[in-house]
Amino acid sequence: MVININLSFEEMWDKIIACDRKYDGLFFTAVKTTKIYCRPSCRSRKPKKVNVEFYHDINGVEEAGFRPCKRCQPEVEQSPHIEIVRRIITFLVNHYKQNLMLKDIADQVGLSPFYLERLFKQETSETPRTYLEKIRIDKAAHLLKCTAMTNLEICYEVGFQSPSNFYKVFRSLKNCSPSEYRKEFLNELD
Ligand SMILES: [Zn+2]
Repeated sequence: MVININLSFEEMWDKIIACDRKYDGLFFTAVKTTKIYCRPSCRSRKPKKVNVEFYHDINGVEEAGFRPCKRCQPEVEQSPHIEIVRRIITFLVNHYKQNLMLKDIADQVGLSPFYLERLFKQETSETPRTYLEKIRIDKAAHLLKCTAMTNLEICYEVGFQSPSNFYKVFRSLKNCSPSEYRKEFLNELD
């Protein structure tokens, strides 16, 4: 069963511009002009936005007549555990607002919390906790750019329980405060 990832077009566009590996396998970038599809992390030249379509599963993109990119090889699975890891990441992306415990995630995929953490770490070099924090900060960055929400509103909107933790994690991943991030983006637009 394919569970669609809950990301808007603009968010997916941000991921491919950033060549973000975290979302590989969760969606595919199809380029209408070349009929090629890629992973989000592909480092080939970026297509024009108007030529891009996003697909949530590989069967859909293949059936629509797109061929896999030779550079990022989106059709090649690197690990036998990739499917379960993808289910975990999809769950994190779709439930980032909730106060998730390791047990909630483990129950979702039918693994023990201990085994889940070990498997996830082996496959992604991260814990589910740090992965979830990165997803939350991606969401926060998106909201800072695209909405007029305050830092505090965004903190709770993306699932942080305390502003101090939000500011700390934001700074460690983006090397600036949320306000600085928004200002920087607005300056770029001028
Ligand atoms: Zn590619």
